[in-house]
Amino acid sequence: MRLIFLGPPGVGKGTQAQLLCKKYGIPQISTGAMYRQAIKNQTTPGKQAEALMKQGKLMPDFITLGLVKERLQKSDCKNGYLLDGFPRTIPQAEGFDKLLQEMHQKLDAVISISVDEAVLIKRLSGRRSCPKCGAVYHADIHPFSKKGLCDKCHEKLVQREDDKHETIKKRMDVYLTQTVPLLDYYKKKKLLYEVDGDQEIEKVFNSILNLLEK
Ligand code: ADP
Ligand code: ADP
Ligand code: ZN
Repeated sequence: MRLIFLGPPGVGKGTQAQLLCKKYGIPQISTGAMYRQAIKNQTTPGKQAEALMKQGKLMPDFITLGLVKERLQKSDCKNGYLLDGFPRTIPQAEGFDKLLQEMHQKLDAVISISVDEAVLIKRLSGRRSCPKCGAVYHADIHPFSKKGLCDKCHEKLVQREDDKHETIKKRMDVYLTQTVPLLDYYKKKKLLYEVDGDQEIEKVFNSILNLLEK
């Protein structure tokens, strides 16, 4: 199964991706997580990502495409993968189509998750993540009783730099102008499936499974 998750920042792509990837045994390929790792390692793209992410801006398309291309060659992708946070621009989607052709692969579905902007802001401002294992939590739905530590690896949870208020607004704008056109792009290819993200995590997950198993 080869899937793309589309949706604004904070809609729950990462949360759903973790559940779905576990169920289907496919890797979750999150370009955001790859860039955060590059920042940690202070590689050349990492340094660039650090500056751009702080402003809520996207990394250049050619760098992102190169990163994804390299990742998809790894052996764990041979039975499929879920792209979480990629593509995010029309040139990325076009580049990815070319890449699929080169690899003789077909995309199965693009799942678009949506919720109202007010809900997104609440989700993003309460988001905390584990810098070690990447697990995602929320201040309201997963109260941090154990001193804000990750359930899985006991690392101290952190708030992402780009989840602070000013940057959230900028990221929403970037989503509206650069990523929303992808909805039409995939609708025309008859690959687009829409899911209401304003439900409990478990219910969103069931809606996704229903779509995929139809
Ligand atoms: P969210 O989980 O809030 O949707 P991500 O973790 O996917 O955000 O991305 C965080 C940041 O990483 C983005 O704001 C951008 O700077 C960079 N990034 C991630 N994916 C891409 C991409 N496909 N193209 C360009 N930049 C990206
Ligand atoms: P994205 O990857 O789209 O940016 P995340 O999966 O990181 O989004 O979720 C953003 C925040 O919202 C996290 O704090 C997460 O725990 C929370 N969240 C995710 N899905 C739901 C949901 N269905 N209901 C309430 N909160 C959610
Ligand atoms: Zn952890």
